[in-house]
Amino acid sequence: MPCQKCGSVLIRFGAFTVCPYCNCITLLKKKKAIFDLFKNEQEIESNINTIIRNNLDKNKLTIKLCWEREKFSRAFFQKYQGLDTNEFLSSNLLILRITKDNFFSGKRNVEEIEAKTIVDAFKRIIESKETRFLLMQGFAEPLQLFDKIHALYNEHYFPILSTYEDNDIWEQPKAKEKIKEYLPLLLTVTEKQQGSTKYSPKEFIKEFYPTIHQFYCCFVRNELYNEVFGLLNNYSKAHLNPQKLMNLVNSYPMNERQLYHTSLSEFITRAQKYLDIEPKKVRELLIFSEKNTQAFPIFLAVNGRVYISHRATFLIYILLHAIVYKSLFDEETVKRSKEFEKQEVKSIFQSIGWTYLPNKTDRKKASIEIDGIATFGRKMVIIECKGWKLKPFFEYKMQQDHIIRDIKGIVDGEKYTHRKPKKIPSLLQKIDFVKANMSTWGLNNKDFDIIEGLIVLRSFPPISEYKGIHVLSIKDVAKEFGSGTSTKANDNP
Ligand SMILES: [Zn+2]
Repeated sequence: MPCQKCGSVLIRFGAFTVCPYCNCITLLKKKKAIFDLFKNEQEIESNINTIIRNNLDKNKLTIKLCWEREKFSRAFFQKYQGLDTNEFLSSNLLILRITKDNFFSGKRNVEEIEAKTIVDAFKRIIESKETRFLLMQGFAEPLQLFDKIHALYNEHYFPILSTYEDNDIWEQPKAKEKIKEYLPLLLTVTEKQQGSTKYSPKEFIKEFYPTIHQFYCCFVRNELYNEVFGLLNNYSKAHLNPQKLMNLVNSYPMNERQLYHTSLSEFITRAQKYLDIEPKKVRELLIFSEKNTQAFPIFLAVNGRVYISHRATFLIYILLHAIVYKSLFDEETVKRSKEFEKQEVKSIFQSIGWTYLPNKTDRKKASIEIDGIATFGRKMVIIECKGWKLKPFFEYKMQQDHIIRDIKGIVDGEKYTHRKPKKIPSLLQKIDFVKANMSTWGLNNKDFDIIEGLIVLRSFPPISEYKGIHVLSIKDVAKEFGSGTSTKANDNP
């Protein structure tokens, strides 16, 4: 909600949510901030490019960057560290862009510490691009702090942030605990590499759904990510089997201090055997080199050697379950949404003392379907549940606008598939239907002072009310309705 005093959009300032106007926080002009950030990024990027092009040997640099990416991936599993998506993005993007770059003249080998510095510098450029992106999407306000332009999240971004948090997409340390859940994942792949695997794709998706979903939403987040991770769609088109890919990688020894490498011909023969595809396909699909930058940059080929990145491939392997097995993955999402509509919302209401009647339909007209009726004392809430999940490209204003459109559609009786609205019974109609027919379920109109509608979502909604209907995340139900109260009910004791 905007500032109650002056109506300005609130911003998050460190741990505080404040009104910039009432607190005399001087924000920068948005257009200028966006332009300045852009100019600055270009300058830094061009400086870095000039330095590395003129000094460093391109091939050796890409190998070192693959090693940086591999070290990052290993640390992710070994040190219980959170998934720093920007870092993984940075190393992958750098490998891709430098391989495509034809302006290298340097001859010097790159030191390990230098490779790390390059990734870090590039990461900062990416952070600036993200800042700029949030400003452009209207999700943040620019503020100058010392010599840096910061983007302070505004109210429009709060639900996205909460949804990210809810999906374990955390900024650093908070993710540490969660990471322990990934360890069993690693074991499934390293221990069961020979012979038949423990999980079928369907079982794997079921077992590790939250992780796969998280990776999917993290790595298909905005255009920057799409530039490199979008290349994984080629695997999907070729129906590449992620498990076989992992078996191939695990058939090579994993070195302690550098990437294992093998000859191009050996790799092709082995990949052909493991993946059951033609040599031509192996070259096209898997081998990333100056000659083939259409492949995802995981198996780098330089001077006739192919470099194997064990744990980086493993991160990709997890992500691939949402891409190659998209229909199985979507099936699991639907199943979990149904579960949400049937069980989770009911359990929450029951846990705070409400009586919950699930799934009521009109016997005469089957089209009216009520997800749940919750009662407590003289209050009744008629509930519609939506298990919508966090989606790729969630940070786009357009995605958020779709969610608002769909919420309003529930109330107004319009369902959108491919942009066209279809008439469905509206929540307002359903409330009237319950009022007229509650005796069928042993309820009596006279027993209730308040009868209201509520939409419960899994994620955090961009709007909290529409035409008198409350819209809430499941995470906030207990807070709002605990001990039988709702905000509205409080006014009528
Ligand atoms: Zn104010």
